[in-house]
Amino acid sequence: MRPTFHPHLVNGSTGDPVLFVDCLFERRALLFDLGDIRTLPPRKLMRISHVFVSHAHMDHFIGFDWLLRILLGREKDLKLFGPPGFLAQVEHKLRAYTWNLVRNYLSDFTLRVTELDGNGAGRRASFRCLSAFQREDETSVTCPGNVLLSEPAMRVRCTLLDHGGISCLAYALQEQAHVNVWKNRLQELGLPVGAWLRDMKQAVLRNEPEQWQIRVAWRGEGAQRERLVSLAELKPALRIVPGQKIAYVTDVAWREDNVARIVELARNADLLFIEAAFLQRDAEHGQRKFHLTARQAGEIASAAHAGSVIPMHFSPRYVGEDRAALRAEIEAAFGGAAMTAFQ
Ligand SMILES: [Zn+2]
Repeated sequence: MRPTFHPHLVNGSTGDPVLFVDCLFERRALLFDLGDIRTLPPRKLMRISHVFVSHAHMDHFIGFDWLLRILLGREKDLKLFGPPGFLAQVEHKLRAYTWNLVRNYLSDFTLRVTELDGNGAGRRASFRCLSAFQREDETSVTCPGNVLLSEPAMRVRCTLLDHGGISCLAYALQEQAHVNVWKNRLQELGLPVGAWLRDMKQAVLRNEPEQWQIRVAWRGEGAQRERLVSLAELKPALRIVPGQKIAYVTDVAWREDNVARIVELARNADLLFIEAAFLQRDAEHGQRKFHLTARQAGEIASAAHAGSVIPMHFSPRYVGEDRAALRAEIEAAFGGAAMTAFQ
């Protein structure tokens, strides 16, 4: 199966936790947390459609300014999500700059910001470049089941966790289903691969009827060719399998209610990105800082039946052997290898 989501842990296991998820065929990406993103090239930053922020501690939110700078002056709608208080935090960041010249811009850059209470409700407002980023169109929103994004192809859900008296959101990205294409069977049908496969997959995920027609256009033997094919004709070339699931969990106190919520959110995730800030020998320190130890992270990954676990947000106090010990600890508790391939 060729995965739809291509996650990349931007700063590896040790820097600010930032997860960039490229979506195959969509020319777009999702971002989980907004710490240091300076190593992401502008062409990737411009693909981001949604940003999901866990909380506004600096190491999770300092990249806001950089993203704003890259996107300013472009015609773009960027959606941001965060915990209670997030609207004011975005507003304060925007208020820190002088915007007297932006009214002359030809294109409008809009931030649509939603803060969530974790119980399926929240508030949303817009900040538009051409109105000098004033808070506009504020409204309350409901998100049944804490679902923040629901499209034919994917869904993002959150859960609210406690991070030492402040709220922190953890997120799960779920591909609704995955449509595999047998290329040899396409060939037998005389059809080329191409951009039309995306339309076809979306039609399948929308549950369109079998007589639904897809336009296939390609260049063959020096001429432009075009054909309409129905989903019924394509059926022998398709196989629908469960979609990918990625969970992102960071900055959370080791507490029974937090653990239960994470396990529920991350259940059966193919990939669980989770903080493993401290070694278990420093668990008391972790408790004071409201962070998980590697062993605790591994236990959560095991309880959630995650396919793979990717530890992140290692405390800078650990170098050399201690860093290897963090991995060993999460692996022992998880009962499997911890992945590093996303760095
Ligand atoms: Zn924090």
